[in-house]
Amino acid sequence: MSDASMPDVEACFSASYPEARTKFLSACEAAGFELEAVQNTTATGRDGEALYADIASKGPKDASHVVLVTSGTHGIEGYCGSGCQISLVQAGLFATLPTDTRIVLVHAVNPYGFSHQRRVNEENIDLNRNFVDHMSSHPDSSAYEAIHPIIAPADYGDRPEHWDGEVLTWIGAHGMDAFRQAVSGGQYTCPDGLFFGGTAPSWSNGMVRTLMQSLASKATRFRFIDIHTGLGPFGHGEKLGLGTSSDVKRAQRIWGADVTDLAGGDSVSAVVAGDMGGAFFDAVSPDMDAAGIALEYGTQDPVSVLGALRWDNWLAAHGDPAGSDASAIKQKMRDAFYPDDGSWRASVVDQARSAVTQAINAS
Ligand SMILES: [Zn+2]
Repeated sequence: MSDASMPDVEACFSASYPEARTKFLSACEAAGFELEAVQNTTATGRDGEALYADIASKGPKDASHVVLVTSGTHGIEGYCGSGCQISLVQAGLFATLPTDTRIVLVHAVNPYGFSHQRRVNEENIDLNRNFVDHMSSHPDSSAYEAIHPIIAPADYGDRPEHWDGEVLTWIGAHGMDAFRQAVSGGQYTCPDGLFFGGTAPSWSNGMVRTLMQSLASKATRFRFIDIHTGLGPFGHGEKLGLGTSSDVKRAQRIWGADVTDLAGGDSVSAVVAGDMGGAFFDAVSPDMDAAGIALEYGTQDPVSVLGALRWDNWLAAHGDPAGSDASAIKQKMRDAFYPDDGSWRASVVDQARSAVTQAINAS
């Protein structure tokens, strides 16, 4: 017997971007959200469909307390974030909001990656490395440049053992921390490489900055949750605090002492320049009560996740995305960022509900 207030969680998750978008729009419409579709006209989806970031809002336009929840910053990770957003809407979490509170859900910040089941956007950009100041010199990329021929070769010869042997040799010489930082810290000089931050603001970057600035202009209290997958223990949502250490302390008061400090180096992620937290803190005034987290759900071990990203990168840069290798590589990407596991999905929704509830209720 089903409880009307508890949606079928599995039915809130989707197998394609168009399916996810349709479910999101219909759930939000039924729940009384205002909808705005922002089209990315620079790209199309896997089946040629138009691509949109959909912004669903509820509550007074001039509310002083704003809660922003985003999905799909890293494309394929949006299948998880979308399922969470749809589940929470269908469960009635936003049916009665506290006075003077506005909830804003952005579905598919990077709709290209969502549709094509890639972590990057239409320009091979990792959006969470793209929010740097492109008018000044980019962060140093020499560590990545040194490892690029090993980590992302054009010819994968006797694959993947060949790659892994060279990688292990590199790690033996330089250490795992140096490897993690060199590969995933972000780079700005190899446009066909991994964790490329771009050389100019991407379409999603502009869309996010415009929205955040608009929301921040009216709020005095601003909460931000960006949903991700691919790092940490299976099904566990690590709360990565955004901003400086004092920003993270504010986040810890809202989401708990287990919010980790990215800048302080105590999280599962490499130290990263140009993440979306930068846009958030650029948008808010220094005296505003603003706090944000990336809610990062674990899937597979880091070696498997990196392996999927390397295959995906190879397919886009040197392979044939419509060829015979594509379906096995897409499956690796789904395994790494969107596990086909009912208990994982139920667990991520539960943790999203807690985090969003804390963001709405925090004083
Ligand atoms: Zn991510």
